[in-house]
Amino acid sequence: MKIESKCIHEGYKPQNGEARALPIYQSTTWKYDTSEEMGKLFDLEKSGYFYTRLQNPTNDCVANKICALEGGVAAMLTSSGQAANFYAVFNICEAGDSFISTKNIYGGTYNLFDVTLRKLGIECIFIDQDASEEEIDKAFKANTKLVFGETIANPIVSVFDIEKFAKIAHKHGVPLIMDNTFATPINCRPFEFGCDIVTHSTTKYMDGHALTVGGVIVDSGNFDWMKYGDKFHGLTTPDESYHGITYCERFGKGAYITKATAQLMRDFGSIQAPQNAFLLNIGLETLHLRVPRHCENALKVAKFLSTHPKVAWINYSDLENDKYHALQQKYLPNGSCGVMAFGIKGGRSASLKFMDSLKFVQIATHVADSKTCLLHPASHTHRQMSDEQLLAAGIKPDLIRLSVGIESVDDILEDIKQALDKVEI
Ligand SMILES: *Cc1c(COP(=O)(O)O)cnc(C)c1O
Repeated sequence: MKIESKCIHEGYKPQNGEARALPIYQSTTWKYDTSEEMGKLFDLEKSGYFYTRLQNPTNDCVANKICALEGGVAAMLTSSGQAANFYAVFNICEAGDSFISTKNIYGGTYNLFDVTLRKLGIECIFIDQDASEEEIDKAFKANTKLVFGETIANPIVSVFDIEKFAKIAHKHGVPLIMDNTFATPINCRPFEFGCDIVTHSTTKYMDGHALTVGGVIVDSGNFDWMKYGDKFHGLTTPDESYHGITYCERFGKGAYITKATAQLMRDFGSIQAPQNAFLLNIGLETLHLRVPRHCENALKVAKFLSTHPKVAWINYSDLENDKYHALQQKYLPNGSCGVMAFGIKGGRSASLKFMDSLKFVQIATHVADSKTCLLHPASHTHRQMSDEQLLAAGIKPDLIRLSVGIESVDDILEDIKQALDKVEI
């Protein structure tokens, strides 16, 4: 199937006489005729359902659809993008380990890596994504377990050089994990460029309508954990907390996701509600229609802003003079996404005046849904960060993050135009 058809048909294929729409399995538990049968499920000897915290058929169908869209071998849904990134890292890192991440990542992920994981004894070494291979090499330690980056960074919308980082990660015997939220598998499938594991906040384009918070982790199945067995002993040696199972031996390419389900979902329980998975699935059916429209509208808005006398600067990699245009052409040739970042001349106060003058475009702590919206990270999402931290993460205090929706671009442009007129510089 082509990707457009996968958006609609993957994950759930009704048999003769079954419902065409994905059923919601609104049940905590499953019933078995014999105690032995249920025991086998607990031993992971048989696959089947017993408790929704571990697995639910509605969730599995949606995870399998996203898995097919990314071209992976196994996937799991989580309650949020935050949970997805936490599980993705914690599945292979433990106290005493370190990992490498680019520093210009989503604020919530930055905080998770810099503060919360540090409390758990896991060190995140932040690097500049534009650093040379030699500089990045120097960040690796003997205890480094993975490299992390965002395909399109939220909110500065820089484009990640997937092949460069995959090569460096593999040279050091660790996987590359990428948050592919903004690109979606419609515009970029990181596995095709050597990435090993992909995460998403499904809250964004995948849901697409700002209805449900959710996340997903997809494994390409390509990373050879056994080759570096000592490093990834959680996957390559028996798990005493799960009947002595060795995930790599028992589950092969499914080892990473099975471990994340059997250990992390069991213990932390960040399951996606089946109702939310059902709504997410409706969003996924039109992902291939919405993403190109977001990009088309966004490019028109970006072109308008880039020549406006009151606009100080703009980041949108589809623009020919953008710093990341060459990488966008390589990894996202059909367009990057609907999100851009820009600043208004006159700085912080002019930016606020602009935002407060908008009538059609909404101020919202969101991106990547059907309605055009914007926010000012320094006063909203990143307000816990100091100015130094903001600048270190590449976020200027005047940065406005604009998420272009799928309304008529004429209405979006008209509103932005009139709001800019109200700004005095
Ligand atoms: C929103 C977002 C997250 C966090 O996802 P939630 O679903 O809000 O928990 C992670 N990464 C990126 C790139 C995001 O945009």
